[in-house]
Amino acid sequence: MTRRISKEVVLGDDKCGYVRIGGNAPVTVQSMTSVATHDIFKCIQEIEKLQDAGADIVRVAVPEKKDTEALKEIIKATKVPIVADVHFHFQRALEAISAGVHKIRLNPGNINDHNQVKEVINACKLKNIPIRIGVNEGSIIERRDKKKRAEELNIFFADKKHGHLIALMIAKLEEYLELFDSCDFEDIVISAKSMDAPVVIDIYKEIASRFDYPLHLGVTHAGTRETGGIRSIAALGSLLSQGIGETIRISYASDPIEEVIDGVELLCALGLKERRKPELIACPTCGRIQVDLFTLVEEVKKLIMDEINLPMKVAVMGCVVNGPGEAEGADVAVFAGNKRGIIYVQGAKVANVPETKILSTLLSECKKLEFRVNNGETSLGEKTIAIKPPDPIGELGSGIESIKKGLVEKITVRKT
Ligand code: SF4
Repeated sequence: MTRRISKEVVLGDDKCGYVRIGGNAPVTVQSMTSVATHDIFKCIQEIEKLQDAGADIVRVAVPEKKDTEALKEIIKATKVPIVADVHFHFQRALEAISAGVHKIRLNPGNINDHNQVKEVINACKLKNIPIRIGVNEGSIIERRDKKKRAEELNIFFADKKHGHLIALMIAKLEEYLELFDSCDFEDIVISAKSMDAPVVIDIYKEIASRFDYPLHLGVTHAGTRETGGIRSIAALGSLLSQGIGETIRISYASDPIEEVIDGVELLCALGLKERRKPELIACPTCGRIQVDLFTLVEEVKKLIMDEINLPMKVAVMGCVVNGPGEAEGADVAVFAGNKRGIIYVQGAKVANVPETKILSTLLSECKKLEFRVNNGETSLGEKTIAIKPPDPIGELGSGIESIKKGLVEKITVRKT
């Protein structure tokens, strides 16, 4: 896919390393801590967990002075660029900058006056700290001027189409960018989030066509992982596949680790990030499954993610009917049937075990393959032979010949 070329910003330091956003840098994943920043120990723990899950950048809220006071120690103890999320109090931004934070997230619309915003911009300029300008849907409505707010809401609600909202967001953004221009400051990332996926797609496309600053993509107030995941993937997947977006945050009303896991998976699925952990392939399931496949898939996923540190493709197939074709690209595959599992490694059958032993045998085969790959004896994606449907005679109590004759439905139907 062709990526839009944006300006580049760099954040970090010699200790935690540098992360580039924009230019020709890979798309990065970020998230935000959920514990209070002034709870230093818990905050550091959460940042480390987010980084382990694949976060390239972590943001922390600094609503009070005790939060910015905690930043110095947090930055010293962690190895990932930290962003301070500032709302309402420009002093928090100045304190965070003094504490050595690597980026500031600012909504100029909720800071009292433009001179205060300029003070923050100039302090960032002195230290080469980038600023993300966030114009979320919920914050672009003027909060202080009630009459103006009513007028803006009127415009918004008078026409349910989101054109007015996009116009308001662009207008606000232009107003803020003029302020940054007046300070000759270009170290900028832009975000314009909404809770509505089509609005997110339209607003970012509009911004991408107007400005060449890197874009931080996100759907705000997305909800829980179930609904938020779909909204986020719909919007971010659409934009990224059009080459728009330099850094992403998936937002859920749940553990931020899930945001990072899903963000990384989205980028890997689109080929925008190199996979480091195993990739699970699982059959879509149908009435032919003869083992507890739902539980098996969940258990395999957890086990290989915890224990294997290679981007190995592991397939879990409910039966031998379509499984082989679906598992074609897998390094390790299990075909279940009649309360047993036949395990293949690089296309060669290595085991036929009862259901209770599938998990442990599969993991042991994954580990053996990982060892051989790490020793340079083989590589992932290499097949000794092509995966062929296992002949179930003597294994699953049916036969490949019967499958060929179209008797498979009779053979594999679940016995009640
Ligand atoms: S692999 Fe077998 S059980 Fe799974 S969906 Fe295909 S036919 Fe059904």
